[in-house]
Amino acid sequence: MLDDPNIGPVVVSEDKLQARITELGEQITSDYQGRAPLLVGVLKGAFVFMSDLARAINLPVEFDFMAVSSYGSATKTSGVVRIVKDLDLDLTDRHVLVVEDIVDSGLTLAYLRRNLRARGPASVEVCALLVKEGLQKVDPDLRYVGFRIPPEFVIGYGLDVAERYRNLPYVCTYLGEGS
Ligand code: 5GP
Repeated sequence: MLDDPNIGPVVVSEDKLQARITELGEQITSDYQGRAPLLVGVLKGAFVFMSDLARAINLPVEFDFMAVSSYGSATKTSGVVRIVKDLDLDLTDRHVLVVEDIVDSGLTLAYLRRNLRARGPASVEVCALLVKEGLQKVDPDLRYVGFRIPPEFVIGYGLDVAERYRNLPYVCTYLGEGS
């Protein structure tokens, strides 16, 4: 895979990812002391981050997953979101922490937040690994952010192009078609 010409320069290295996730885990552990947060992963992109983040949190956490699909081209979201897989658990009175891979326009997250709030949770906060600088069309109101990155299309560490590259252990730019 390393000789793939579409894999561009590294944006966030493996070391930086792991160090920041340790910090985020410590912060979440202290903020949610005495509670058992429900981590809601947004599939598929968040599965790698969620797995590392969860192991950095020293609390009794629970897990659920949602899959959404946004209409639009391969590299741009349109803001129209459809739930492809819904949660299994009831959110009533739960402290929900949404785990997102990347916030671009923020439209996917705005939709998710509205949708989850309507289910009667005690709280809904968001932990996003990556936020693209300057692109948000709505205020994403993020409690935890891993890294702010330039507005380029990136792959790796859960992020794909046509289901490839999710297993790269770092985040890098994509040099292929549509980028
Ligand atoms: P938003 O609704 O914030 O514009 O887009 C969020 C979703 O678009 C992310 O959850 C992700 O699936 C996809 N996305 C946005 N930017 C990128 C990117 O740079 N690379 C990849 N692979 N997906 C992206």
